[in-house]
Amino acid sequence: MEQIEKKSILLVEDEEKLARFVELELTHEGYNVEKSGNGREALELALQNHYDLILLDIMLPGLNGLEVLRRLLKEKEVPVILLTARDAVMDKVSGLDAGAVDYITKPFAIEELLARIRVALKFHAGLPAGKNESAGGNEEGVIRWKDLTLDDRRHEVRYAGHEINLTNREFLMLKTLLENRDIVLSRDTLLNKVCGYDYAGETNVVDVYIRYLRSKIDDVFDIKMIRTVRGVGYVIKSE
Ligand code: CA
Repeated sequence: MEQIEKKSILLVEDEEKLARFVELELTHEGYNVEKSGNGREALELALQNHYDLILLDIMLPGLNGLEVLRRLLKEKEVPVILLTARDAVMDKVSGLDAGAVDYITKPFAIEELLARIRVALKFHAGLPAGKNESAGGNEEGVIRWKDLTLDDRRHEVRYAGHEINLTNREFLMLKTLLENRDIVLSRDTLLNKVCGYDYAGETNVVDVYIRYLRSKIDDVFDIKMIRTVRGVGYVIKSE
């Protein structure tokens, strides 16, 4: 099955035959592959471009793979799998200490490499993505809370697969609460978000929208998603 969005891999390996073989296999598996056979060049590539994963040989011309790893991870977070020689135990240890997610010993079976790549990509995608607003989800614009998913791009909310029909303002209210999990939002804050700063009405419209949301989600699925903090506002807790 073809992947919707191709993952990109930087392959850093100076043994050309091996590099070409791995590149071919990865491309066949549906990855976008870029190659480099030089440590210094690889570091520059990795710093300038986005890669979902880096396969990094250790013995490299230009700059040693471990040094590439150290300098790279100081600047950005990216999963790195080291390609190591059979007896290079210290390299493996140093590599993992320096932040590599895994290593594979040469010569390796391509199936094993592919499996390790899948694990590394999956594991990395599951980590909180730092600046990603929708912390907790790896798809862009999708926020998850327990069995609930809010897809901003599709303007869609689902609970355990069931679609929930929300009006624009209910949707915005829910999104605001989900994006600010564990933060109690005042009625004023919610009102500004949902109705805009020039809204002249009463802040109790917020209570009305909260009531609608509860009747469409909390009541239907018998959960307590939106909590009232008396005298302050509302919050969705992440626990
Ligand atoms: Ca090498």
